[in-house]
Amino acid sequence: MTVATEKYKEQVFKMAQRMATSGLVTGTWGNLSARVPREDLVVITPSGVPYFLLQPRDMVVLDLEGRVVEGEKRPSTESRLHLAIYRARPDVFAVMHTHSVFASALAVARRPIPPILEDLAQVVGDGVPVAAYARAGTEELARAAVEALGNRGAVLLANHGMVGVGRNLEEAFMVCQIVEKSAKVYLWAELIGQAAVLPAEEVEALRSCYLDEYSREYIKACAGAIPRPGGS
Ligand code: 13P
Ligand code: ZN
Repeated sequence: MTVATEKYKEQVFKMAQRMATSGLVTGTWGNLSARVPREDLVVITPSGVPYFLLQPRDMVVLDLEGRVVEGEKRPSTESRLHLAIYRARPDVFAVMHTHSVFASALAVARRPIPPILEDLAQVVGDGVPVAAYARAGTEELARAAVEALGNRGAVLLANHGMVGVGRNLEEAFMVCQIVEKSAKVYLWAELIGQAAVLPAEEVEALRSCYLDEYSREYIKACAGAIPRPGGS
């Protein structure tokens, strides 16, 4: 394995620990991956392993067709979902799948999250859609998720959970946290009265501002540990 891929195994492992302690997942569910720039390889968490038992060497290296290039453990059962997103979205270098509570509540109600908060609009765009239901781990789920995701930062999986994407692991994690917070706020707002949705032109302006300016420092700050798209 190349030095870059080894580095990603370490980074995916570390982020898996942070995801596990963040409360966004329960038990062994959820998974994450990172694409190694210029190598057409993806480092993904193994399937069904308790997070507290994970070791960096348990991370599985796949090619973009899903063939195991390195690793003793079985890759995540959601490998198809991760790989389909990487194939459809050249701008995405990290994918995180969580079963967080409030996002799951909306996924069960099959209610998309509209762009109701400025941070949500910045990191995902015009809201978080709900992908058509398909069984976990299937090609059908991968297709449904990619279709609903479009060029956004996140998608809810009907009766299942959510997926957040980013230009690096830090960003994918932040997207998942902001989506979970937004799901909570949306539910509270609807309980009190009615959630006011940001107008389309405002959402577009916020999204552009985030991508072109606001996130620059954040992406740069994380670049030492986690490579940027096209960088190493
Ligand atoms: P893995 O443990 O296989 O990664 O999958 C758990 C899960 O969330 C399935 O959707
Ligand atoms: Zn899942």
